[in-house]
Amino acid sequence: MRKTLAAAAFAGALVVTAGTAGPVAAVGEGPGYGGNETVNTSILHSYDELVTELKTQDARQERLDLEVIGQSVKGRDLYLAKYISNPDNPTILYLTQQHGNEQLTTEGALEFIKHLGTGKNQGVLDGVNILVVPMLNPDGAMGDVDFPLEDYIASGGRHLTRYNANEVDLNRDHVAKVEPETRALHDNVMRKYGIDYMIDLHHQGAQSERDGQLVSGSILHPTTPNVDPAVLEGSKKLGAVVFDAIDPTGWGHLGKYVGGSAETISRNGIAVEYGISTLLFEMRGMSDHYREDYVLGQKSNGYLIKQTVTTLEATARAIAGGSIADADTSFWDTLAEQNTRSE
Ligand SMILES: [Zn+2]
Repeated sequence: MRKTLAAAAFAGALVVTAGTAGPVAAVGEGPGYGGNETVNTSILHSYDELVTELKTQDARQERLDLEVIGQSVKGRDLYLAKYISNPDNPTILYLTQQHGNEQLTTEGALEFIKHLGTGKNQGVLDGVNILVVPMLNPDGAMGDVDFPLEDYIASGGRHLTRYNANEVDLNRDHVAKVEPETRALHDNVMRKYGIDYMIDLHHQGAQSERDGQLVSGSILHPTTPNVDPAVLEGSKKLGAVVFDAIDPTGWGHLGKYVGGSAETISRNGIAVEYGISTLLFEMRGMSDHYREDYVLGQKSNGYLIKQTVTTLEATARAIAGGSIADADTSFWDTLAEQNTRSE
């Protein structure tokens, strides 16, 4: 019975993702990898395809500027896509794929960039400066690393891994800033632009649940005691905009991420060092891993990409129009921490 319900919920999710009318269901209840679903990495943008798309958009969009902020360990250029209308406007940074095996956030960021080129979003760009760093860890995303990946699950010609080529977790390097990818971000983005908000986009394991239901993702504000209270309040408001845009949709179900106070993590370190209101957003499931309970089958790609696009568009709009100032942060007091489903 339970399996039937899950299958029905999943079928509903596919219909919704396809954009036609259909039953709305919490797609968090869709199947995990389970050892038998196809996970083929060839349907994701390769690094080269990402760069080609960014350059195509740069040529098409007058308001978009593309900048190389540095190089990865293996020499791949790292890109910043920027829309800066007015230095006096508030500025938000969207960061994806510090962890190379968490790619659907980058797929969503690319969709978002394409949407920003359309007429309906020009008003948004008048009110907010938008910075996007997609795929900060291209070596990990391409599996071009100096350690073995042969036990990773996905098929499709390449493996994707969390770490950079030196097997370092970039999201534990925000204090020391040893790796070239982290240095590029800090030297040429964080210190160079007056950034007010940042959403750091990730993917978590596939088996997290809130209130007994698998989540489509989880969010968290800075949790270091050293963060300025006003910065933390900005983070909570950013989270409120995200929660209100995702959780009531029927296809989204968010939990509170369980995270520590280490400032080596961008959510904490960047909030303290630069006074930026940060938000961590962890989407459900990873594109590749050696652990089956972390990988999510590609059938879920549609709604997770949509979750990213919805998040980016909602926050950009709320900041541009000023409604973020009125965001109700009280949900943080009742939002349950997610837990891992045990079967
Ligand atoms: Zn991550």
